[in-house]
Amino acid sequence: MGAAAAGSGLVWALAGFGTIALLAAVAAVWLVLRERDRAARLEQSLRQAETQLDALVLRDGLTGLLSRSEFELALDEMVQRTDRGGVRFSLLYVDLDNLSTVNDAFGHEAGDAVLRQAALRMANYLHGRSVIASRIAADEFALIVPGDRDAGQRAAEGVVGVLAKPFRINDREARLTCSVGLAAYPLHGSRPRLLGNALLAMRTVKNAGGGGFAEYDPRMGVAQREEAELLHELRAAVERDQLELYYQPKVDAKSLQITAAEALLRWRHPKRGIISPALFIPLAERFGLIGAIGDWVIAEACRQAAEWREAGLRMRVAVNISGYQLRQDDLVARIEAALVLNRIPPSRFTCEITESVAMEDTRVTQQAFDRLRRAGVHVSIDDFGTGHSSLAALRRLPAAELKIDRAFVCDLETSGDARSIARAIVQMAHSLDLRVVAEGVESEAQRDQLVALGCDELQGFLFAKPMPAEALALWAHNEPPDRASVPFRPSLFQETQPAEFGAL
Ligand code: C2E
Ligand code: CA
Ligand code: CA
Repeated sequence: MGAAAAGSGLVWALAGFGTIALLAAVAAVWLVLRERDRAARLEQSLRQAETQLDALVLRDGLTGLLSRSEFELALDEMVQRTDRGGVRFSLLYVDLDNLSTVNDAFGHEAGDAVLRQAALRMANYLHGRSVIASRIAADEFALIVPGDRDAGQRAAEGVVGVLAKPFRINDREARLTCSVGLAAYPLHGSRPRLLGNALLAMRTVKNAGGGGFAEYDPRMGVAQREEAELLHELRAAVERDQLELYYQPKVDAKSLQITAAEALLRWRHPKRGIISPALFIPLAERFGLIGAIGDWVIAEACRQAAEWREAGLRMRVAVNISGYQLRQDDLVARIEAALVLNRIPPSRFTCEITESVAMEDTRVTQQAFDRLRRAGVHVSIDDFGTGHSSLAALRRLPAAELKIDRAFVCDLETSGDARSIARAIVQMAHSLDLRVVAEGVESEAQRDQLVALGCDELQGFLFAKPMPAEALALWAHNEPPDRASVPFRPSLFQETQPAEFGAL
C-alpha cells in the first residue's frame, strides 16, 4: 500500500496512537533526572525519546496514513504555498459514523480491518490528485484536496460514496456511513481555524443523521454555541422546576365529552418566554436529559389527574413517552408507583408512543410493551401513518388507540391521497379493535370528514389549544350542559387567553 501511495502523490506515515504514552514517558524521565546532573542527562534522554517518537510517527501498521502532527506540518506547508500564489485547496474532515457497531458486533480486529479498508478506498478513489491524507484520531481522517471548492466538494461526495459500499468482514458484510465536513482555504478560515471549521461542518452533518457532507458556514458555529447554551439552561430548568405541563383535551366524536387530556411539556424560560417542546425535547434526547424530564412528566401528570378527579373531572390523562424512556428498565415500575400514589386506575393512564418508536423491533422495546400490557395501562400509537408498520406488527402491540398523524388531517380537504390513507387507517384500526383519534383538527370541514370516516375521538385547535391545568378545568366546567346543541364550539380558553399561548 505504501509504495502505491508514494507513486500517487499521497503522503503516508503513521497514525498517532502511542504519542501520548511516549510524551508521558518523557515527562516521567524528566522527573527522575531532576535531582541529578540535569542538563547533560536530560538532553540525552530527551534525544532518545525523540528518536523513538520519530520512529513511531513515521510508520503506521494500521492505515499507513500521516499522523496528526505530520498532517499539521503538511497543512502549514500547503497554506504557505497558497499564500505565495499557489493552488488553493479544501480540507476534508471525514468521520466514520458507526464504527462502534462494527467493533461491538465483530470485535476490534474487524474494526481495525474496516479502518484499513476505508483508508485504502479513499486512497484509490483520490489516486493521482496529489491529496494528502491522514488518520488524525481513532476513526477520523483528514484530507487536503488541492484545487478549487468544486474539486473539494466532488472529493467529499466521492468519499461519502466509496465508504457507503459494504465492507467485507470474513464472510459477512457491514455497512457504514461517514460524515464529511469541508473547509476551503482561504475562503473558510485562516490556518488556525481551518481544521476546527471543517470539524464543525462534519459535526453538523453528524447531528443531522450522518451519511453526507457539508461545507463550513459561519452560522454553524453560532448554532452550536446556542445549542450548548440552551442545553446548559435546560439542565438548570429541570433542577429549578421551570418545566410545566399544558394539557390538550381529546373529545369523543359523537358525544363531544372530554375523554382525555394529553400532557404537553412547556419550558418557561426566564428570558425567552415559553419554549416549545419541539425545540428542547430533541436536545434532551440527544444529551441524556430526557430520562429525568420524562420521570417528572409521569409524576406530575398523575398528580394532576388525581387533583382533577377530586374536582369531579374524570378523564384519562395521556403522556408522551420517548424512545429513550421505553428502553429504561424501570419505566413501568415508575408509572405504576405514580398511579398507586395518586390512586389512579392504570386504564385511566395513556402512554402515547410514536409509531416509529413502537416499531423498533428490538428485544428491549418488546419487553417494555409486554410490561405495559401486564400493568394494564392504555397504550396509544402516536403520529400514525408516518412509519412503516405492518398489520401483523400492529397486532402484536398492546395498543388500545391509534392517533392519525396531523399531516393527513391537514391535507384532508386538498388531497385525495390523504383521504384514502385516513380511511384505510380507520378501517384497519377498527378491524384490530383500536380506537382512532384524529389530531390537529383545525377546521370544521376537517372535523366533518373525520366524523364521516368513523374517527372515534378528535383533538385539535378547533376544540381547544394546549392550556394550563387550571384553564382546562375551567374549560371543562364551563361547557354548556347540553353539549350536543352547541357542537364543536371553539374553546373558551382560545377566546380568552393571550396570543402567547397561540403559537404553541
Ligand atoms: P405530539 O405528541 O404529536 O403533540 C401534538 C402537537 O401538535 C403538540 O405540539 C400540539 O400543541 C400540536 N397541536 C395540537 N392540535 C393542533 C392543531 O390543531 N394544529 C396544529 N398546528 N398543532 C396542533 P407541542 O405541544 O409543541 O408538542 C410537540 C411535540 O413534542 C409533541 O408532538 C411530542 O412529540 C413532543 N412532546 C411534548 N411533550 C412531551 C413530553 O412530555 N415528553 C415527550 N417525550 N415528548 C413530548
Ligand atoms: Ca402525542
Ligand atoms: Ca402526534
